[in-house]
Amino acid sequence: MKISELFNKGTRTLSLEVFPPKTSEVFDKVFAATSEIADLKPDFMSVTYGAAGSTRTYTTAIAENIEKKGVTALAHLTCVNASEATIKDQLANLKAAGVENILALRGDLPAGVESTDDWIYRHASELIPVIRSQGDFCIGGACYPEKHPDAASLNEDIQNLKIKVDAGCEFLTTQMFFDNNLFFNYLYRLRDAGINVPVVAGIMPVTNAKQMERILKLSQAFLPRRFVSLLDKFGNEPEVLKQASIAYTTEQIIDLFANGGDHVHIYTMNKPDVAAKIQENLSFMVPSCKK
Ligand code: FAD
Repeated sequence: MKISELFNKGTRTLSLEVFPPKTSEVFDKVFAATSEIADLKPDFMSVTYGAAGSTRTYTTAIAENIEKKGVTALAHLTCVNASEATIKDQLANLKAAGVENILALRGDLPAGVESTDDWIYRHASELIPVIRSQGDFCIGGACYPEKHPDAASLNEDIQNLKIKVDAGCEFLTTQMFFDNNLFFNYLYRLRDAGINVPVVAGIMPVTNAKQMERILKLSQAFLPRRFVSLLDKFGNEPEVLKQASIAYTTEQIIDLFANGGDHVHIYTMNKPDVAAKIQENLSFMVPSCKK
């Protein structure tokens, strides 16, 4: 199913993100975890794409399995330093795997690269026409309530986002955030700028303090005091942190739904138990969470 059709139904959705392995040795383990997450039957599942396409066959294999299990898959695709042939090849593979939804991304610049001027595709908006030329895909894109790190200002970032949406991006998924006010203010600014596509709130349950340090640094997300306390106090007690984090995430999602958000995407970090618990907590609020 196309994600745009799902959003047209007007019901609240909860979708889940998984990532492929970096090496073949752990493929079976990661594949099994993503398969278990698909068994939760979320509204849809996204599968990330390794930097510069290093794990692209894994992304396809995992997305194909998700579709086979009857769950809509959203495959990520980046264009950083990619050739037209590689992109077309990946799109053909995804199409053959039954994938109808693509998240069009630029990707992070490799270390030491400061400019994309010499590249064929410099922005995600330039990838979108290629995707459109290769099939009837529903196309999404990324957005940043706290501004993309490369942009000089949030205003400039939103103007660039408008170019991406006008190029054919049918929905947006946000970078993770931990303070809902940032999301509500951002949504207001997007609507004011004439960006009216559905915006999916990307939410991450932080269940492993060490692993999160790197991710939080990368995303540069603002951390509310209440959230920092969880990490400080329970960082060395994994089971306690997990429980506290699931509760924090659930509360954050309920507040989003209560104040105008309709679609939430969970960065599951490939943890089926965490995703299942959050679904359980929302079983009356989100139709796909009711078992
Ligand atoms: P773009 O939309 O191209 O924006 C990048 C920067 O360029 C911004 O500062 C923007 O303001 C500016 N810009 C955009 N268009 C223009 C224009 N026309 N003219 C001038 N400036 C412009 N990375 C991965 O490697 N694999 C993944 O699977 C992955 N999944 C992600 C999923 C989500 C939901 C998010 C939020 C991020 C994900 N990322 C992933 C990270 C992403 O690739 C990086 O954040 C990357 O740096 C930017 O990608 P983008 O598609 O947002 O880029």
